[in-house]
Amino acid sequence: MIFDPLTLWSVVLFVGLMLAAAMVLVWLLTPEEPALLHWAAFCALFVAGTAGVMARGVIPDFLSIEVANGSMLLGYGLLWTGLRVFDRKRPGFGWIFIAPVLWILLCQLPPFREGIASRIVLGAGLASALALLSIRQLWRGWVLPSRIRGAALGFLAVAFVAMLARIPAASALGEGNHVRLFTDPRYVWVGVLGIAVMILATFTLVLMVRERSELLYRSAAQRDALTGLLNRRGFMEEALPVCRKGGPMALMILDLDRFKQVNDAYGHAAGDRVLVAFAEVLRFRLQPDAIVARIGGEEFVALLPVAQPLPARHAAEEVRRGFREELQADWFGSGPITCSASIGLAVGDVVPSHTALHAEASLAGVMERADAALYEAKAKGRDRVEVVFFGTARAA
Ligand code: GH3
Ligand code: MG
Ligand code: MG
Repeated sequence: MIFDPLTLWSVVLFVGLMLAAAMVLVWLLTPEEPALLHWAAFCALFVAGTAGVMARGVIPDFLSIEVANGSMLLGYGLLWTGLRVFDRKRPGFGWIFIAPVLWILLCQLPPFREGIASRIVLGAGLASALALLSIRQLWRGWVLPSRIRGAALGFLAVAFVAMLARIPAASALGEGNHVRLFTDPRYVWVGVLGIAVMILATFTLVLMVRERSELLYRSAAQRDALTGLLNRRGFMEEALPVCRKGGPMALMILDLDRFKQVNDAYGHAAGDRVLVAFAEVLRFRLQPDAIVARIGGEEFVALLPVAQPLPARHAAEEVRRGFREELQADWFGSGPITCSASIGLAVGDVVPSHTALHAEASLAGVMERADAALYEAKAKGRDRVEVVFFGTARAA
């Protein structure tokens, strides 16, 4: 296979520009991720810089040395600002001019103006420092589970090592023996590798965006929009593994009493606020590891990993009392709202399940028992807690 170096490098530049354009296209589809624009600019500046370096001898040296390499350094900086923006931090634009300005200024000093090897060492040092910043951001922002972030980190680490490796390579080569990268057919592989790296890097960044938006959509599908609690689907997803593991548990089903009348008396918007207030009571008065969800209009569920009936009963009473207290506040300037909650509590232990189907059945069984207790609480006059036991649990 014979490559004409100039043709090949032109293709490299063209592909780089197309990748920048593709990144802008992805941003048009996901405008909530401006990081894509930073990364598109990174690609474009990298291509512009490479074109400038290639044009050495054709354009003035200041453009092909100072400006072209400065443009690549600015591009690396935008990779970093993009990662910051992706992690919902301020971009920090002020910082990214340091490396290019430093580069242009130092190039005016005799050792760098006259020595290619010294310039390579300087450029590689600045570039690897910027790569290190991006690596740090990728690592620090790794809070949500993400496989692609790990891949991006590995990828950047390799790029970092490759950049650093230019320092001993340039020193070994010495002044006056510089490599003609863009015209020497022996170095065509660098261009081929360059295309591969650019395509993979762009893909990785776009996949990071995609992976996160998928995660956000998935978790939104598990949440109730009004109260921010889990919805029924979210509850099932979180409660089933607990059930599958087996062991002691307490499950309460909570239903607001005569809620229809609250809506009728104060209006639907006020009813909504009462629902949110009840959700807050559940969130703050139950232990933090309780799984709490809104599973119907004014019906809620809470799963507590407690073994003893007494603390479970206390927790339920705490919610019931807490809700009444909460409603004492004069929310609408028309005095306190009267509304209460009835709670059905099932306490016991479930046997570990070997299949998801079995876990589903045992969770459904526990919920049925709690529901029956709730029905009893309603029948006995509302605003109370009724307890049933299952498994080996006995009344304390
Ligand atoms: P009970 O004590 O027997 O539970 O009586 P209830 O009135 O609470 O029960 P019912 O099931 O008859 O009525 C539930 C009411 O909850 C009816 C509906 O208007 C109201 N509701 C359901 N979802 C919402 C909501 O999202 N916002 C508001 N404001 N009301 C809701
Ligand atoms: Mg009700
Ligand atoms: Mg109801």
